[in-house]
Amino acid sequence: MKYPVSITRIERSRLEEVNFDNIVFGRHFSDHIFIADYDGQNWTDFRIEPFAAFSIHPACMGLHYGQSIFEGMKATKTVDGQPVLFRPEMHAQRLNASARRMCMPELPEDLFMEALDVLVGLDSNWIPPREGSALYIRPLMFANDEFIGVRPSQKYRFVIMTGPVGPYYPKPVRLLAENHYVRAVRGGTGEAKAAGNYAGAMLPTKLAQNKGFDQLLWLEAPEFKYIQEVGTMNIFFVIDGVVVTPTTDGAILKGITRDSILTLLKDAGYPVEVRRITIGEVIEAYRQGKLQEAFGTGTAAVVSHVSHIQYQDILMELPSVEKCLISNWAKDHLEGLRSGRFPDPYGWLTPVHALELAEV
Ligand SMILES: *Cc1c(COP(=O)(O)O)cnc(C)c1O
Repeated sequence: MKYPVSITRIERSRLEEVNFDNIVFGRHFSDHIFIADYDGQNWTDFRIEPFAAFSIHPACMGLHYGQSIFEGMKATKTVDGQPVLFRPEMHAQRLNASARRMCMPELPEDLFMEALDVLVGLDSNWIPPREGSALYIRPLMFANDEFIGVRPSQKYRFVIMTGPVGPYYPKPVRLLAENHYVRAVRGGTGEAKAAGNYAGAMLPTKLAQNKGFDQLLWLEAPEFKYIQEVGTMNIFFVIDGVVVTPTTDGAILKGITRDSILTLLKDAGYPVEVRRITIGEVIEAYRQGKLQEAFGTGTAAVVSHVSHIQYQDILMELPSVEKCLISNWAKDHLEGLRSGRFPDPYGWLTPVHALELAEV
């Protein structure tokens, strides 16, 4: 191994506290956490420790000025029990793209990969075996200077925590197309997976939820015409047999699930268009009876069907889930590829070396 990672094992695993048949998303954390610190020059002190709280200085710059970025990815087990990571190098690259935008240090891609391999290998018992379940992996990097004053931090901390998640059977979501608040504008930070993007979306999302919606469909400011994405997902429409998703233009998060689904659909011969699309076009398609499906894509849910979209006083009701042939096909293929039920011609699965690590 290129990077020396010191490992302190937990004395007694907490795994038996978790019921794999009823896992609440985001509530359970596996036995170990990976931690590295940036000292202003280099990433140092690579360690895996029992998962526990750590202390933060009250002047921690990440808390005050928001230099904080993260990733969300999954490890699963294939049908023959092999733990695998899904496209980890894409997450490493996106973390570094986020880091550049937020003026934070990049993390060597091979360090990211090695840390994941050791951590997930060590806690591979925490990967729920059932298809659709997964070990959710949350890498996080934040500014860690103890300083009040606006400038980029010199010190940073990078951690990777993981936790099991159950099969996600999201009920179809009701979307409100937002025409007052914005999530991101071109030139802003929307393409970075930055904590602050979520903070700014909390209030408008809460207001929509008070009105009975699940999520917002974000539109591009200031015209509020072009469609961007949904809360934590990229958006797709099926219009008259053609799959359409907005071009990522600097304000839209470049979802890895979006990319995977686009690849699967194209290679299976579905007509796919990546282009700008307006809410007006979606309404027009709806009125002509050509809006067949709308769905969101993201690591957590993979595919979430959209049941309704409201724009001003227009409420569009979409066909029921059973009729969503294309999104159901895409979801099944992506999950089947992850579990080894379908072949992986793209090399998207990276095996984790669980056995060797049991000997560490
Ligand atoms: C993470 C995220 C997505 C989905 O990205 P995946 O790589 O598919 O998980 C979409 N939109 C936003 C704003 C996100 O933060």
